[in-house]
Amino acid sequence: MFKRVLIANRCEIACRVARTCRALGVEYVVVYTDADAKSPHIEGAVAAVNIGAGPALQSYLDGERIIAAALESGCDAIHPGYGFLSENSTFAAAVDAAGLIFVGPRPETISILGDKARAKALMAAAGVPVVPGADNASDDPETVEYMVKSVGFPALLKPSAGGGGKGMQVLTQAAGLPEAVASAIRVARSSFGDGRLIVERYIEQPRHVEVQIFGDSQGNVVHLYERECSLQRRHQKVVEEAPAPSLPADVRQRLVQAAVQGARSIRYLNAGTFEFIIGKDLQFYFLEVNTRLQVEHPVTECVTGLDLVEWQLKVASGEPLPLAQESIRCDGHAVECRIYAEDPADGFKPAPGSVIDVRWPRGLRVDAGVASGGAVPPYYDPMVAKLVAYATTREEALTQLHKGLGETVLLGLTTNIGYLRRVLADTGVRMAEIHTRYLDDHGKRFTQGDGSVCAAACAVAASLSLTCAPSPWNDSWDHKLLDRVCLDSAAPLGRAHIWVDGQMLSVAIQAALQGGWRMGVGGEVCDVKIAEVVAGVWQGVTGQSPWFAVRHGSVWEVQLNGDRFTLLPAHARTFEDELVAGAAVAPLSGTVSLLPVNVGDWVEPGDVLAIIEAMKMEHSVVAVISGTVRSVAFVVGNSVKKGELIVDVQINELPST
Ligand code: ADP
Ligand code: ADP
Ligand code: MG
Repeated sequence: MFKRVLIANRCEIACRVARTCRALGVEYVVVYTDADAKSPHIEGAVAAVNIGAGPALQSYLDGERIIAAALESGCDAIHPGYGFLSENSTFAAAVDAAGLIFVGPRPETISILGDKARAKALMAAAGVPVVPGADNASDDPETVEYMVKSVGFPALLKPSAGGGGKGMQVLTQAAGLPEAVASAIRVARSSFGDGRLIVERYIEQPRHVEVQIFGDSQGNVVHLYERECSLQRRHQKVVEEAPAPSLPADVRQRLVQAAVQGARSIRYLNAGTFEFIIGKDLQFYFLEVNTRLQVEHPVTECVTGLDLVEWQLKVASGEPLPLAQESIRCDGHAVECRIYAEDPADGFKPAPGSVIDVRWPRGLRVDAGVASGGAVPPYYDPMVAKLVAYATTREEALTQLHKGLGETVLLGLTTNIGYLRRVLADTGVRMAEIHTRYLDDHGKRFTQGDGSVCAAACAVAASLSLTCAPSPWNDSWDHKLLDRVCLDSAAPLGRAHIWVDGQMLSVAIQAALQGGWRMGVGGEVCDVKIAEVVAGVWQGVTGQSPWFAVRHGSVWEVQLNGDRFTLLPAHARTFEDELVAGAAVAPLSGTVSLLPVNVGDWVEPGDVLAIIEAMKMEHSVVAVISGTVRSVAFVVGNSVKKGELIVDVQINELPST
């Protein structure tokens, strides 16, 4: 086994690899950037090497810099995680050439399988069924048009060098073909530096099922069963599970055998995933091999009870596979969901920002890469964590995951947690009537319901009741916090007026309950239970919905059912409060290194307003309210002192008073 490994990645996967290193007693070195200086993946490393500025091209994708860091810190191997350099054959070869060991397949394997055209040809020759199509990749528009016509409609244009679901295009008719082909070639060229496309028959409503395989340097290959990854949004996996639900035993057997056969034919080394799609007729077709540890590997770890990173390290250090095929079992059911800092209400746009408070649910596996007080920088993939439930049955696992998401606190960030909860509660998902377009086709079902805004307003009203002790809704209550309307029979205990999304909601306090209040908003009645404030976070339950709240000056941020709301109690609508809420000040003295906003721009909570560089570290200043930028006080390169106003945001969804 290795003595010391360099982990060439960040966030949750770097933390994940580090965990196994610690368990095996292997020392590890991490790399980080100026934007990641406070990231949790740095903890526990014997050394941490700063490899440069935030942008990945200057850091996590700089192979030379990373190899130098490994050599300088006395490592004997490099684990690339996923993404970044994990599927870069030039990097893998350079690692070998530097006398280090690359924890992954051989460079030639990565190179061949990274090209979908060559991978499909190789697998077809090994007897693995591949998606029918024209697989002589080309970047000549006329040739590609000819390929499309020979495949017929519907057809799928796919970058041969592609990955991450990017750049694919479905064609349903001949009209507009030249334009579509030209555009797909351009996208492939700009995304992957290679414009060559393959054309496949577009399989309607398929399921995505993939097989985890492992090979050792002695030429042994085993499979660790399959994963179902059909719940995708725009070809990107959102929820994954193992085993694949309702897959007939014979199909499953042929599928895993095909993967093993394909892997054996190329003497595959280390971890790999054979991806397939399965048509409605249960025919399966090979798509590609991912030559790395997969984001969704935890579900396989749950059902097999194995540690895939341990296997990777053992195999890379020359040991044989730890288990023979007949000793690898698959028990129970595991479901994983990916938590992203993104805004489902705004086209799932990445939503980097500062992390105020993080609390994970009990009873689930949590693979996380953020911590309270940290940040999600704008430079990288916005996935921040994965939650995994493991139970005897699929139904139980889904229920546990749904519940766990509701208990998850991620204040400061806009995330897809609410979206994931709605997906996991969906009847079709529960019945496993899923396919790769299921989430896109039924997008409307997974948007936030109207009642949530009212429930969030009630959460703020209840939180306010705790802020003005001793007893807010009796005669001693503070008139600044709640507008009392005397003789209002609908609100015998008073009203709280709260701005949210540009409208003012009037929350009627109807009755005191044990540990909370009965409240009414616009015809809806909510029973709100409020627990104590823990470390600045208010928490409670409105109806069945758990919520968490913090205040930023006079603005409240509420996370309810996983959705994020920004609310402003009406009493806070004074000029002074508005100024406090919208003013973004320098958190420390330093140099302004980025000012992505201009006067007049619309910003949302979490948007980066400025980045301050101090002592080689980057600190982002983010908006806490939505509104327009009223002033920008500096230009890039200026030095600022702690507390100085940098950007001022005006809450102009409120009428001026
Ligand atoms: P998985 O099945 O492991 O989820 P993904 O296709 O989602 O695989 O990729 C995992 C990570 O690697 C994601 O962050 C994705 O954006 C990134 N990735 C994979 N292939 C590429 C590529 N060719 N170019 C850029 N990013 C990629
Ligand atoms: P990437 O390298 O971007 O991951 P894949 O070939 O693995 O590309 O395809 C990603 C996803 O696109 C699949 O999971 C599936 O949902 C869809 N897809 C790919 N090929 C086809 C096809 N021929 N027909 C229908 N859907 C497909
Ligand atoms: Mg794929």
